[in-house]
Amino acid sequence: MPKVGKCALCLSPNVDLQDSHVVPRWAYQPLRDDRPGRNPEPIMVWDGKALQISKQTSEHMLCVACERRFKVDEDYVYSLVPTALDFPARKLVGKPERGVPADGTAVGVGQLDRDRIAYFGASVVWRGHTAKCVPDCDLAAFAEPFRQYLLDRTVGFPSGTSSELYVVDNGPKWRRACGTISLPQTTQRERQSSSGIPIHHTSHEFVLLGLYFTLRTESSPFLRASLYGNPPTVTLTPPSKFLSWFAPHIVKASPRGKLRPSAAVRGGPKKR
Ligand SMILES: [Zn+2]
Repeated sequence: MPKVGKCALCLSPNVDLQDSHVVPRWAYQPLRDDRPGRNPEPIMVWDGKALQISKQTSEHMLCVACERRFKVDEDYVYSLVPTALDFPARKLVGKPERGVPADGTAVGVGQLDRDRIAYFGASVVWRGHTAKCVPDCDLAAFAEPFRQYLLDRTVGFPSGTSSELYVVDNGPKWRRACGTISLPQTTQRERQSSSGIPIHHTSHEFVLLGLYFTLRTESSPFLRASLYGNPPTVTLTPPSKFLSWFAPHIVKASPRGKLRPSAAVRGGPKKR
């Protein structure tokens, strides 16, 4: 049921607010396992833990027009995720020159539409920032530049930020590596520059069916493997590497069988 309020994106007051999904509704369906004896609910990595939940995280945030605004690029990304037979995103990216090493490799964006991918990734992170039920996603001072960009993409991708995409490469267990979704989450990271100077940056990340989206803010430019780098690139990642990011959480959760959604998942601690 719609609620009346102010749209978080276009700021129109007194509009019918839709029950807006943070991660698109379609992302949950491919994860359901309806085979006898299996848990039919998807595995979702959330707040550092894997939970098997039927609850789809949503909140009254957007007016009808802004829901439609996001849907166009959601539909595009839907055309890239794995099907029963295929993984379209992997077919569309550029080919690595010499195979894919264990740590992954940067390739050209190929036939992927980087603008639509970057817009979609930013929209999910921004929704995570905006939704009170997602406690660990915070764009801080970048929230307003991203709101303006998401409302009117002709203003361009916010400066001082970068957008990255990781795609599961072919190999053993690639389907398993494509079986996870997560809510967007903000983490602080540090790495060494080539001259040994520590570089701090903030990452806002989520995984979606074999695609891993990263939005970096407050960092030095990450030209390597960035959708807006020179040249524009994505990173092909072996399934084993991809699984290593998430498998510990999934294995930890699976012995517990069908987990009931916790109170935190239903409502979530309020942020800010
Ligand atoms: Zn709106």
